Amino acid sequence: MSRRGHPSRRGPRCGDPALVSREKELREKLGTHLRTEPGKWCCACRQWLPLEAFGPNPELRSGFKSSCRSCCAERTRQWREANPEYLADYNERRRAEYRAERPLSTRPCIVCNEPFSKRADALVCGERCRNRRKHEQRKAAADRFGSSLPVRRQPSIHCLASLWRHGGNGH
Ligand SMILES: [Zn+2]
Ligand SMILES: [Zn+2]
Repeated sequence: MSRRGHPSRRGPRCGDPALVSREKELREKLGTHLRTEPGKWCCACRQWLPLEAFGPNPELRSGFKSSCRSCCAERTRQWREANPEYLADYNERRRAEYRAERPLSTRPCIVCNEPFSKRADALVCGERCRNRRKHEQRKAAADRFGSSLPVRRQPSIHCLASLWRHGGNGH
């Protein structure tokens, strides 16, 4: 009869020892917070916040950014404010790249025949010609339907009322 040793004192394996000790350190630092709510410490505003308050960062072990969304937004805003020339250059460069990839061809407007260059799917040179075209299309449609389809008269309110009256009392 062989006695087996005590069952292992250690619980189920819980991953990376470095992570475990870091979590322990955090627990001590934050007291009960870590035990009660799932969340994360924002290293910028120094608050314990729910996980939804953090954007993703797959490069970090936690899978989340180390600053909360509002701290990140604030940092971005400050950076933009401090670098207006860089930002203007960057936007200008991006616009130029975009245009180089999608060159605008010059072709005649289908309404006024004047050459114009706009998005590839544009057919008219501008607002005025767009309105003119719409107007003409509507007119053409009205003419077509107006001549080919017989106009069926809707019964008037008066006729409907008399139908209901005569049908309703069985005469
Ligand atoms: Zn924060
Ligand atoms: Zn035009």
